[in-house]
Amino acid sequence: MDDIVADEALSPRQLRECPGCGLLQAIPPMERGMTAKCARCPTTLHKTATYPLDHSIALTFAALVLLIVTCSTTLMGVQTSGIMISANLFSGPLELAERQMPELGLVVIFVTAIAPFVKLAGTLYVLVRLREANPPTHLRRVFALAEWLRPWSMVEVFVFGVFVAYVKLGDLVTITLEHGVFALLALTFMMIWSDSALDREEVWERLGGAAAATRRASPRRIPADALACEICGFVTAPTADGRCPRCGTRLHPRKPNSLSRTWALVIAAAVMYIPANYFPVLTVMQLGAGAPSTILGGVEELLASRMYPLAALVFFASIAVPMLKLVGLTTMLITVQTGQTAWLRDRTRLYHIVRWIGRWSMIDIFMEALLGALVKFGNAITIEPGIGAVAFCAVVILTMLAAETFDPRLMWDSAGAAEARRAGSRPAATPALTA
Ligand SMILES: [Zn+2]
Ligand SMILES: [Zn+2]
Repeated sequence: MDDIVADEALSPRQLRECPGCGLLQAIPPMERGMTAKCARCPTTLHKTATYPLDHSIALTFAALVLLIVTCSTTLMGVQTSGIMISANLFSGPLELAERQMPELGLVVIFVTAIAPFVKLAGTLYVLVRLREANPPTHLRRVFALAEWLRPWSMVEVFVFGVFVAYVKLGDLVTITLEHGVFALLALTFMMIWSDSALDREEVWERLGGAAAATRRASPRRIPADALACEICGFVTAPTADGRCPRCGTRLHPRKPNSLSRTWALVIAAAVMYIPANYFPVLTVMQLGAGAPSTILGGVEELLASRMYPLAALVFFASIAVPMLKLVGLTTMLITVQTGQTAWLRDRTRLYHIVRWIGRWSMIDIFMEALLGALVKFGNAITIEPGIGAVAFCAVVILTMLAAETFDPRLMWDSAGAAEARRAGSRPAATPALTA
């Protein structure tokens, strides 16, 4: 590949390697509220914020306050035979721990409270300290951690879990929504808003002032062996210490051992998929009668009680999404290894869908945790989460990790190599600059 030579000095903000296809490209200077798409695949390269960075401080602070309110108030109350039981964010995980499923409780508490809190508090800390004249270097590590936690913070998925639990219980007992639910809805709205309003490139640029200055020494020429940082997106010539000059992350041309790691995670998820569907995820006992039900059984019960939209939601989240992820990841792996050249744009889109959709499977787990915490009325009625839920949760986490480990640029690399072999020439790397 040729060196990239631009007419004007390139700022780090302008130079990008597409994380979806690996194409190195310069994007023109952008106004506020603009989006840059890759010239070759359906990946979004950069989105500038509509408002200045201080706007994000207010939004992140509001979200953090709402998270604290949500954590300290009651979400739902259930009443039957004169007894009242209420649940907050922590009741489900505590109940799971009491029922010998502490690992499941830990996952639920991590994705609904710990990850969102660390992400919000970390981002707020970085944004506030960025206002200083010389921001300290440890901010880079804090922001990298907050960014890494993004897929694991699942407040909006939890909202759907609460909704499914509410509708499902309405049939069996008297259920009331408490203040916590409204705080949770406001928190979800605020988290989505603050997430989309934050210009991460602007934060990284301000965090890595020295690195940007190094680039200015050779502003118009970027070598062909340039590497892009996986965390902050900075494009640089290979460095002496092998680390990103802007955020300090180790640089790799492609994610290390991506294929073998992804295969291992996909196979492990496929194995766990069997107990996840075979063992019960929920047991409802009413007046001493009742039977354990599996994931598919749960959907059938919802259909039998004519809750069609809810049945469709649970079917989508618990059966369709895990299947789509397993089949999608396997397809992507095989097409890389066989050097397929067709459907490259669609396969890249599939990768983005698989990565985005993974977290939504947690709806069922959240619902089971809440039901278990809310419905324990001795002989009258009890709901117990089953061991199948642990296996199902493992499937969700393993497929999410697999999607993070897979490198979609490999699909374009192997297709490029196959094309080159067919043309009888030496394999070419990614095409040169399009601006
Ligand atoms: Zn691309
Ligand atoms: Zn970096």
